[in-house]
Amino acid sequence: MHPFTIAFVVALLAHLAVQAWLARRQIAYVTRHRTAIPAGFGTAVTSAEHAKAADYVGARQRVGIVEDIYDTAITLALTLGGGIALLGSWAGAAVAPGILAGTVHLLAVFAAMTVLGLPFTLYRTFVLEQRFGFNRTRPATFVADQLKGWALGLILGGGVAAGMLWIMASAGSSWWIVAWAAWLGVTLLVTWAWPRLIAPLFNRFSPLEDAALRERIDALLARCDFHAKAVYVMDGSRRSSHGNAYFTGLGREKRIVFFDTLLSSLGPAQIESVLAHELAHFKLRHIPQRLVAGAAMSLAGFALLGWLSRQDWFYTALGVPVPSDAAALLLFLLVVPAFSWIVSPLLAAWSRRHEYEADAFAARHSDARSLAEALVTLYKDNATTLTPDPLYSAFHDSHPPPATRIERLRALGAGAAASQ
Ligand SMILES: [Zn+2]
Repeated sequence: MHPFTIAFVVALLAHLAVQAWLARRQIAYVTRHRTAIPAGFGTAVTSAEHAKAADYVGARQRVGIVEDIYDTAITLALTLGGGIALLGSWAGAAVAPGILAGTVHLLAVFAAMTVLGLPFTLYRTFVLEQRFGFNRTRPATFVADQLKGWALGLILGGGVAAGMLWIMASAGSSWWIVAWAAWLGVTLLVTWAWPRLIAPLFNRFSPLEDAALRERIDALLARCDFHAKAVYVMDGSRRSSHGNAYFTGLGREKRIVFFDTLLSSLGPAQIESVLAHELAHFKLRHIPQRLVAGAAMSLAGFALLGWLSRQDWFYTALGVPVPSDAAALLLFLLVVPAFSWIVSPLLAAWSRRHEYEADAFAARHSDARSLAEALVTLYKDNATTLTPDPLYSAFHDSHPPPATRIERLRALGAGAAASQ
């Protein structure tokens, strides 16, 4: 057996073991604290709500473990089990060899993975989310979403796949630099097109009509010297009762989007503070930092792919006897996550630092106490546990643990009150 086969299998199983171990820890910790609401939350959260959050976490983690095992089995079946090789020879027989056959090969593997993942998507939406009262997706909406998603994947994914294969075939031995530049271009294009062309396929966006709230938001934007093109309300309630708010777009074309579910559960002062937090991610340059880090990581990825695609062992060690550009892309996409999970705690820690910085910004330009209230409401509405396992949280969570986050906001609020 090739050493890389062993390294791949060991990394894959180590990932699975760590995921399962952390999930078990999370379930045990949350269950242990099922009846103990952390001191800082007082009467804001009832014991029934706290227990519901614990049950929701447990249910999701248990499905997560099963799905991780299932996904690992699929990855092994596609690689060492010969799935990629099989779909490759099928694509080669179905259409003329070349870029078209490679594109069909890539799309066939993505289609297989999508179909194999469907039972979990169905289970989460119609069993798990339903049981906890979050699901609002009707079967017709679900089917329409899937069809639109597949059509989009076929056009966008097929286009990107064909483009990559063309660059690999025609740009010489340094093709990976050209491919990286093209990848950045596609990323920017999709960022531009998403709010305009793609998001409206799935949701309705209407301008925020509440004049008093709009005035409040404009005052906040002026205070922070921030330019946004428009404020929209999105019908998130079509699918779920979970609430959210986000920015999209680039440069001066930025849009603010509120889920209707968020607007219905928060008051004006709380909405303003949530927006101030989101705005902070732009003003503190978190977004450009992430873009630059993403570009640097993808450059490293393409350089690695450029090198791996020239090594015969990369194919044979992973169950593909005949090398091809399409197989190189597929193997890379399946194999990298088996190793890259090791850095995910660092990325999570980086993200949590940004969250604390954005909270402090919101406290300066809006109101820390309103943000704390808003977060408690959102934790409650989304059944987010207030008592995550510290290790699980440090490894996975992009946002700080609720108790610490609220405590810091209260301290900032008290500081602001004292200085007035
Ligand atoms: Zn944030």
